[in-house]
Amino acid sequence: MKTLLNSILARFSESRSWKSGLEACPQCRTPLEEDSVHAVKCCRDCSGVWVVPCLVKLLLTSPEKSVAHLLSGEIQDELTHQPGPKRDCPTCRCHMKNYLFQKESNLWLDACPKGCGVWFDSGEFALARRLEAKKQP
Ligand SMILES: [Zn+2]
Ligand SMILES: [Zn+2]
Repeated sequence: MKTLLNSILARFSESRSWKSGLEACPQCRTPLEEDSVHAVKCCRDCSGVWVVPCLVKLLLTSPEKSVAHLLSGEIQDELTHQPGPKRDCPTCRCHMKNYLFQKESNLWLDACPKGCGVWFDSGEFALARRLEAKKQP
């Protein structure tokens, strides 16, 4: 069953602050580093990005120069990111779920069902921005 990312963004749209503590990358277990500007956390090893749900839409529609440092990683145009093996939420350690970014897209993202955050693999953040921009009239 497909669950759209919007459902979790809507459920957790209120402001949230990070819990303090060491959060490890769900992909490579490297401790995530906090981004001072945008309240996101990044993995230096795999360029994955961990974003609180209330910030996702904002970051996806921000001017490119303000999020340029989050856009590392190669964009694959036909990225068919199928639901993959279960990963753990970096914040609360529960199993993350796969959410479809948009009805028309093939981009699947991991997100914590409790609203801790949304995980973007390397290149996925840039691809999500591109898909979001396409949607704008
Ligand atoms: Zn990583
Ligand atoms: Zn969580």
